[in-house]
Amino acid sequence: MKEYPVLRHLRRFLLGRWWIALLRSVSSLCHRGSQPLPATWQGLATKPIVRGLSILLVLLLFYPALYAQQATLSQKMSSMGLKSVTAADSTILVDLIYTRSDNFTDQVLYEDLDEAYLHPHALAGLLKAQKALKDLYPRYSLIVYDAARPMQVQQQMWRVVRGTTLRKYVSNPANGGGLHNYGLAVDVSIVDEEGVPLAMGTEVDHLGEESHITHEADLLREGKLTKKEADNRLLLRRVMRSGGFRALPSEWWHFNWCSRQEARENYQLIP
Ligand SMILES: [Zn+2]
Repeated sequence: MKEYPVLRHLRRFLLGRWWIALLRSVSSLCHRGSQPLPATWQGLATKPIVRGLSILLVLLLFYPALYAQQATLSQKMSSMGLKSVTAADSTILVDLIYTRSDNFTDQVLYEDLDEAYLHPHALAGLLKAQKALKDLYPRYSLIVYDAARPMQVQQQMWRVVRGTTLRKYVSNPANGGGLHNYGLAVDVSIVDEEGVPLAMGTEVDHLGEESHITHEADLLREGKLTKKEADNRLLLRRVMRSGGFRALPSEWWHFNWCSRQEARENYQLIP
């Protein structure tokens, strides 16, 4: 189930350490005061309705500031020249998997991002790929699961896989991160006219041999991949390559715009 931004912010607001620190400060100030509160005020303060209204008032006062934080990450991406996929082509679906916890990290990694951003060069390639797909199958569409990813999120992801067998699937931030961290990689699949993803043999984000495009002949032979699923993967690679992207051997859904070296030499890392 999709979590609404207001609930996400409310949770962060209530659980944030600064909120606890604020309560402690207010509490210590009150105790330091020489004059006790008048009895009528004390009576009012214990009434649940008054407490409830106070919390609501505080939330109303603070929510705009918290909402501004959401705009900040989008603004940061925009200020770096990255572009929103949806703004460029609203027929491309976007469903960022790291805005929910049902991804391989079991964590929400994008607390305040719900748009997919890409560098304009990669975005132009994605628009070409969408057109190539529509030319072949007008009712199909690309769906983006992840695109530009800040290094701070890469760091969180690395902490989850560090020291496990899954670390080979995640770029180590200490080595400069990966193409997602430049807005030059995209995790993508195809949906039908109902918005249902085509069968690709595994879920997006399944880290294992079944997701390797280099093993597809073996997977077909062993019955771990159907002909239809293999054909769907081929279609995805065909349209993404026609847009100028390169497939990644270990993840059927991941496509790079250029090499890591080219990214380091010519593009800006997202902090
Ligand atoms: Zn990826």
